[in-house]
Amino acid sequence: MKHLKAITFDLDDTLWDNHGVMARTEEGHYRWLLEALEAWRAARKEPALALSQESGREDYLQRRQQWAKEVPERRGDFTWLRLRALEAQLEAAGLPRSAALMWAAAAMNEFHRLRVLVTPHPEAAGLLAALAERYQLAAITNGNIHLARQPLAAYFPVAIAAGELLAPKPDPTSFLTALSRLNVAPECAMHVGDSWQEDILPAQQLGMHAVWIAETEDQTLPPRVHRIAHIKELPQLLESLEKRHSGGVYNH
Ligand SMILES: [Mg+2]
Repeated sequence: MKHLKAITFDLDDTLWDNHGVMARTEEGHYRWLLEALEAWRAARKEPALALSQESGREDYLQRRQQWAKEVPERRGDFTWLRLRALEAQLEAAGLPRSAALMWAAAAMNEFHRLRVLVTPHPEAAGLLAALAERYQLAAITNGNIHLARQPLAAYFPVAIAAGELLAPKPDPTSFLTALSRLNVAPECAMHVGDSWQEDILPAQQLGMHAVWIAETEDQTLPPRVHRIAHIKELPQLLESLEKRHSGGVYNH
């Protein structure tokens, strides 16, 4: 057994609650698009487009799902899927292609502005700062958040957009890429995340240690997997593991 040298983190619903942010971002960037587009067309004395918030968003979602099916290697690249869906929708609504491309890009700019307005758990920054003194840290996310603009970016010298750059988790590629960039063997690394399927299982199967953030208590945990209810419990868990394995895996 080797010393623990590195910890990789999932972001959404691990270091912050993502649900409210996604709902506001989803609704907000599309509302921005319709309002800005309508003002633009009114200024040019062009008629309003027949797109409404409700039916337009439903159509936008269906178009994203269709693109993900047709181009499976892009299924985890949500920004790409959204751009293609918006461009196609705006063209179908009657915009010339050049205007459709411009407005789709503008809407995604607004999407990313809203998407980074996450509020990390109050303990997260202090916790990462303390851990960074002992371990190498990395972030691995399937989300299409702008990695350099997210509020905890400074703590992650290695940050991997699994869906956009590689294959989305649970595909092991992003974990292996992080381990390679950290130059750490799987048994010397731990992954922390909230998804059993996307975080815990792939990390465990690669031989990493894993910490599952979950409320449930009625699941038997495989070897090397631990469970906490909230990220703020991580330092205590690490401390108890270090004690339990003193001279062994978790001890420096
Ligand atoms: Mg997550």
